[in-house]
Amino acid sequence: MSTFPDNLLDSLSIRREVPLAPFTTWKVGGPAEYYAEAPDRDTLVTLVRTAEEHAVDVTILGWGSNVLIADRGIRGLVIRNRSAQIEPLSECEFTPRREDFIRLQQLDTAKYYSFSDLDYPEEPGPGMLVWLDSGVSLGLAINKLISDGLTGLQWFSGIPGTIGGAVYNNIHGGSHFISEYVRAVEVFKDGTLYQLSADELDFGYDYSRFHSSGEVIVRVQMCLARGNREKARAASVAWAQKKKLQPHNSAGCCYANLSEEERERLGLESIGWGYIIDQILKLKGTQRGGAVISEHHAAFIENTGSATAGDIFSLLKLVSDTANEKLGIRPQLEVFLLGFTPEERSQLIS
Ligand SMILES: Cc1cc2nc3c(=O)[nH]c(=O)nc-3n(C[C@H](O)[C@H](O)[C@H](O)COP(=O)(O)OP(=O)(O)OC[C@H]3O[C@@H](n4cnc5c(N)ncnc54)[C@H](O)[C@@H]3O)c2cc1C
Repeated sequence: MSTFPDNLLDSLSIRREVPLAPFTTWKVGGPAEYYAEAPDRDTLVTLVRTAEEHAVDVTILGWGSNVLIADRGIRGLVIRNRSAQIEPLSECEFTPRREDFIRLQQLDTAKYYSFSDLDYPEEPGPGMLVWLDSGVSLGLAINKLISDGLTGLQWFSGIPGTIGGAVYNNIHGGSHFISEYVRAVEVFKDGTLYQLSADELDFGYDYSRFHSSGEVIVRVQMCLARGNREKARAASVAWAQKKKLQPHNSAGCCYANLSEEERERLGLESIGWGYIIDQILKLKGTQRGGAVISEHHAAFIENTGSATAGDIFSLLKLVSDTANEKLGIRPQLEVFLLGFTPEERSQLIS
């Protein structure tokens, strides 16, 4: 097992056996073998570089709103990314781009999740290129950028997370994806800091190259519109209000929607797992220890206060096994499992 020399622990403010549950929205999971916070980009890169030099595994934690951390914790170095700079770069030509990952339309959309009443097209025209540190909180970025007259990110209001976590999984807000705005990403891997253009990021529905590349996202360059500030602010506030009704003692929706072809093949009314878990699998409200399949939205699992990662894992497994029995498919997880063994992961990820 690779370790840090003791002298480095002090000089880089790396601590041992730090509980990670408080740094996640599910509030479960064990400790990090090594833990450090990166208040800025330089510290983030220094920590990753040093870990690489000592062959210590690195896990980046953003807001912790899309992860399930095992009760045994995570081996290696966990870096909580707090880098927070937003820097305007230069003018850009903003062209509205709609990603063609069509899996967002939800027939079972409850009234308070409906988005079409808020959506509007941003006009093409002069925009601004902006670098955002990967640790910037989404909420902070949205507010600051709209105040500066830069619009586009209002669709992601109310989503807890950092810019790095958002790009990692190409988050969707309403009918928009963050990839619509990303022009480049600066990453670190194997001792090198380098840039990737948007075309190299392999964005898809709930997907980017970062799922398998092992690269650390250091900062993200976006082209934002010089759009209507008041309209964007109003959409942002209204959407955040709706998102507030979702259970926040969760990691959001646990499953990626089905494709339209899968829905048709299975003869289902909806592509959404909220509908499937509730109406087909009949698992809404099922409890394991302190975890429950949400009564508000059956694709969310809530921590009622005393859940362990094991409780949540067993609900995820129950949904997966029941879907396999009844429909012959296993849902694709939208949350990331950290600290689990390959055998455990294989029980949920086909
Ligand atoms: C109430 C609620 C509502 C939500 N609503 C939505 C929604 O509408 N749409 C949506 O898409 N998601 C939603 N989510 C899920 C989640 O908020 C987003 O996916 C969010 O962007 C995750 O960001 P994070 O910083 O918390 O990532 P984390 O959970 O900290 O990390 C997620 C993954 O990204 C990796 N990662 C994070 N930062 C970096 C980096 N800098 N470099 C490399 N890897 C990195 C982590 O290692 C981990 O594997 C919701 C969650 C909650 C709790």
